[in-house]
Amino acid sequence: MKAALHVGVDSPLLIEEVTLREPGPGEVVVEINAVAVCVTDVLATEGLTLVPPPFITGHAGTGIVRAVGPGVTRTRTGDRIATAGSAECNLCYPCLQGTPSSCDEIFGGMVPPREVGVRSDGTAVYVDGGVGALAEFMVLRESGIVTIDADISIEQASVLGCGVISGLGAVFNVAGVQPGWSVAIVGCGHLGLWMVQAARVAGARTIIAIEWDPVRRALAADLGATHLVDPADGDPVQQVKELTGGRGVDAALEAGGTTLAAEQAFAMARGGGVVVPTSMAQPADSITLNALDFGVGAKRISSSQTGGGYLKRDIPLYASMLENGIIDSTHIISKTFSLDEVNAAFSAARNKEVITGVVRF
Ligand SMILES: [Zn+2]
Ligand SMILES: [Zn+2]
Repeated sequence: MKAALHVGVDSPLLIEEVTLREPGPGEVVVEINAVAVCVTDVLATEGLTLVPPPFITGHAGTGIVRAVGPGVTRTRTGDRIATAGSAECNLCYPCLQGTPSSCDEIFGGMVPPREVGVRSDGTAVYVDGGVGALAEFMVLRESGIVTIDADISIEQASVLGCGVISGLGAVFNVAGVQPGWSVAIVGCGHLGLWMVQAARVAGARTIIAIEWDPVRRALAADLGATHLVDPADGDPVQQVKELTGGRGVDAALEAGGTTLAAEQAFAMARGGGVVVPTSMAQPADSITLNALDFGVGAKRISSSQTGGGYLKRDIPLYASMLENGIIDSTHIISKTFSLDEVNAAFSAARNKEVITGVVRF
């Protein structure tokens, strides 16, 4: 089968024949239909992963189960599934503590890396983040896939495990936004635009979208933002405070991928409010917070990994919300690419030319 193979930071992805291995215990073989290209995948090809090359990236995809390995009980051949860059074994310590979004299997898929097959010269091929959806077929862990029944398009199904679960989950599960709250969202890309919609669905009265790009600000307004903040007009923290009677917001969510965005989110939450960082800066970076605000601001800081909920509970729910038009992907899925165009899809994500690009098989 063909796969998009990352062979090193100085090389583009290679479309190459890979011989997939048989599914082991708890694994299934999925024929992939589409993959949403995420900045996380782009960062992995720039070296921001624990997995050594050659590897296949792509953490959010959709497809049809074609074979199941020993011990697979909840998934059948023919099931339509979505995959997220997460796993949920229901057996490890974080899962048993009710925090499956920190399941041991997520990082267990990185160190040691999951080997899924071989190149034509016999060398092992790994997958990034335990998934590796950018291939015609993939051996996936049953713990990381969710069966979906909703009548939604292939493109919509492909974004469930990326922006949808991460954005909606950050608002519903982690921030716990309540009716009437004021919410600020720092960064309105393929994560923040889902957060805007989630805040609207949760009944937030004030939804402040902070975004440099005028096209993305306009989209945020279409999707439910009540106020738009352009950082070019002055310190976004001050602008948010002015919009909230000097107090700050009940919930501030960071979806900008920078330390500055995280620091601003913390500063614009009201005393006693909630702050939700969600994205990856460079691993060696540090965040600087005001000591007084940090020490006695009574702010709850809770970072979000894949939406902080339960994959098998949340993905079917969000799929039905897409099916029923409660949330809208129309302007978030900006462009589709073929597998042969995967490098163009990655550079479009890297250069923010698209909100979300989807590779269709
Ligand atoms: Zn677990
Ligand atoms: Zn993603």
